[in-house]
Amino acid sequence: MRIARVRATNFESSAWGDFSEREADLPLVTAMAIHPEYRHPISTWRPAEAMCIVEVQTDDGLTGIGWCEDYCGATSRIVNGHLSRFLIGADPREITKLWDLMYRGSIPYGRKGAALYGISAVDIALWDLRGKHLQEPVYQLLGGKVRDPIPAYASHLHYLDDDRFCAEAEDYVKQGYKAMKMRFRHGPADGLPGMNKNIELVKLLRDTVGDSIDIMADAYMGWTLEYARRITRRLAPYDLKWIEEPLLPDDLNGFIELRRTSPVPIATGEHEYTRYGFELLIKNNAVDIVQFDMGRVGGFTEARRVCSLANAAGLPVCTHAYGLPTLHFVAAEPACLMAEYFPVPVWMKPDHSETDFFDGAPMPRGGNITVSDEPGMGYKFDFQIQEPVS
Ligand SMILES: [Mg+2]
Repeated sequence: MRIARVRATNFESSAWGDFSEREADLPLVTAMAIHPEYRHPISTWRPAEAMCIVEVQTDDGLTGIGWCEDYCGATSRIVNGHLSRFLIGADPREITKLWDLMYRGSIPYGRKGAALYGISAVDIALWDLRGKHLQEPVYQLLGGKVRDPIPAYASHLHYLDDDRFCAEAEDYVKQGYKAMKMRFRHGPADGLPGMNKNIELVKLLRDTVGDSIDIMADAYMGWTLEYARRITRRLAPYDLKWIEEPLLPDDLNGFIELRRTSPVPIATGEHEYTRYGFELLIKNNAVDIVQFDMGRVGGFTEARRVCSLANAAGLPVCTHAYGLPTLHFVAAEPACLMAEYFPVPVWMKPDHSETDFFDGAPMPRGGNITVSDEPGMGYKFDFQIQEPVS
């Protein structure tokens, strides 16, 4: 079996389905919030949403499919213009070697960012292909399920007013979620009044859901070390499971210092890449919860290596974002806690619906998700992009 054809296609559509559209104009603090002209909303600065679909087709007609984000079309160009060179003519079962060729071959411009998105999507496609070849779901290839169903947490909770915020949180409890994550609205540019509002919002969420539901809060890289140290001291009474991305991903020293002093556990990693990036976070005691994204870290092959590092250090992993590659991985990986899911808030229905770019992605029921046993990843497109090998 040899790889006959590789194609990466850019689509002007979010990899996160309806979620990006919902979030685009809602207030939240971000890495750009220190610049007043880009403070709100996220659509003022983030490039247009796009995704890259990678198809890897063999000479016997099987096609494996992977996907990732594709900001500015950079990733699809990298896959088509460079990574495909290492794939065409190769045995697609030699995933470890192919990963290494792509990683080493892209070092002059790679190591992190768009190149790793591309390697991730190709890796996901190769695991999908292997599953289809062996007629096994990917979770079986990873060693089988260690949890079934997968617990999911509800990830949304952008504050507009008390009524909507509390109704949304109460709805998640009613649906059966045991954990949920809110977004902070304020950072250092909003001064002490903003910090007070951040704290009031966490208190409101805790008071709304009680003390038997895990709550988390995302700062989307929008704080500084000084700000984070102060607010985490003040947030200690509310028993947050974690605060997410309080600092820029490159601020390793800041994370080391924050984790040393914060009474609230610190999560980060959705903008980190490969075992090398996570090794620095883990061995420097810079993080409490490891949080890679399957479409960025390097796909299944590299995610397993990062989990080994985390597990040996006694750290849990909680993957970023949703999608079938993530669900297969979380089903099979002991180090993982649960999966993130982006429900439509009760106050947004029925203007928005829970759609995924792919057909076949299971939706949570009662706060849990069950992965199907279809071969490979088990997803289907709602349109046809494949063409026969010529
Ligand atoms: Mg996040």
